[in-house]
Amino acid sequence: MNQAMWTHPATQKNRQKLLTRGVHFLGPDSGLQACGDIGEGRMMEVVDILDALPRFWEAPFLTGKTVLITAGPTEEAWDPVRYLTNRSSGKMGYALARAAYYHGAKVILISGPTALPPPAFVEFIPVKSAEEMHKAVLANALKVDIFISAAAVCDFTFETKLPHKLKKSHPKEPITLVKTPDILTAVSRLKNRPLLVGFAAETEHLLDNAKAKLDQKNLDFIIANQVGDGLCFGEDEQEVVILGKNSQIHLPKTNKRLLASQILQNLVLLDC
Ligand code: C5P
Repeated sequence: MNQAMWTHPATQKNRQKLLTRGVHFLGPDSGLQACGDIGEGRMMEVVDILDALPRFWEAPFLTGKTVLITAGPTEEAWDPVRYLTNRSSGKMGYALARAAYYHGAKVILISGPTALPPPAFVEFIPVKSAEEMHKAVLANALKVDIFISAAAVCDFTFETKLPHKLKKSHPKEPITLVKTPDILTAVSRLKNRPLLVGFAAETEHLLDNAKAKLDQKNLDFIIANQVGDGLCFGEDEQEVVILGKNSQIHLPKTNKRLLASQILQNLVLLDC
């Protein structure tokens, strides 16, 4: 619809009437219109409409809650063109963000660089490095009820970030790595912290290692998943175990969209 038609009092009056009858509106979006005008009235992108719809039929067990989710890898710059990262695709974190929205939550998604389109209807905060993710999480952690840390945060970063591209003629430039801040542990130390859920991606001794992380990081729950040998990273399907201090729930292999919803349902049930 053209912006002048959309803002016309007659259209707005009809919109108000429909709202009082319980009709839901998706959009309109704002931007360039077919006639060349710019303003409100564009049809919402189809992918965004598809993103919005499940909220109307999924069980609203997160209504009134705010959920903070981190997703994807972090990217640690060495020089302006080279960086250290990992194989995380962000699919699990993005699926959790969508599922939390579908189930009624307000969602903040802090994401490292991924190839995924940001879900519509969530507050999206893009970051690159572990340090940036750390700052963004701490700026939001006390505003939320649940923090799910699904990001594969790089454990190390470069002690020195080179201001210029390193020339091939300097192959022996030493590399010193230093540890990145542990974001989950930092949030666990906050007074009035939210419910804390971590992820443990393990190649061996899955449950023992996950349980150790649950205790070390002082989490409420940890989602344990086996990685390596083509498992998990970048895949569309996954199998996980949710571990709490006194609970253990196995969720069999299924696609990450469905799994995200099952994880949230179980977390809410276990937390009651
Ligand atoms: O210690 P590890 O990296 O295996 O722990 C994984 C969990 O800790 C994940 O939930 C991850 O998002 C979080 N993490 C973090 N900050 C780091 C490293 C991992 O919050 N620097």
